[in-house]
Amino acid sequence: MSSDKTRHCLAFEHHDHRLCQHELLATARDLCKLRRLKLTPRRQQVLEILLQSHQPMGAYDILAQINKADVNAQIAPPIVYRALDFLLEEGLIHRIECRNAFIGCIDPGHQGAAQFLICKGCEKVAELDKPASTLHSEASRVGFVIDHSVVEVTGFCADCQQK
Ligand SMILES: [Zn+2]
Ligand SMILES: [Zn+2]
Ligand SMILES: [Zn+2]
Repeated sequence: MSSDKTRHCLAFEHHDHRLCQHELLATARDLCKLRRLKLTPRRQQVLEILLQSHQPMGAYDILAQINKADVNAQIAPPIVYRALDFLLEEGLIHRIECRNAFIGCIDPGHQGAAQFLICKGCEKVAELDKPASTLHSEASRVGFVIDHSVVEVTGFCADCQQK
């Protein structure tokens, strides 16, 4: 679906985030076109807000940002939740359970579970695309079929360790 470039975990590497954001948005748009999904202006706006940084955002922060940008809009929380539901369902974003917040996916629409490294210093989140191999092989060894797994690992990124 996307190039190898977008598939890697850039959050903790120094990079030009505008480029990264631009690519992720383009990939998401292409995916919606391919799947004939309606990326309405509101859905796209929520996605764009989430792609502004590698820090996850809560629904109320997203709402506040939308209402601040357009004083005439003043939308209510359910509108944001509906947009988030759509984006989650299509795999364009993920929910970071331990932060009760959302983050743009680095490989929109990918199969399989996502795993996250969460820095407690800068609150950035990096998504890893490699499967948690021990977990999966242990599960299959005992005949267990995983249908949902959330791997959220907290710690400190290289930059934050130096502070
Ligand atoms: Zn980036
Ligand atoms: Zn993902
Ligand atoms: Zn950090």
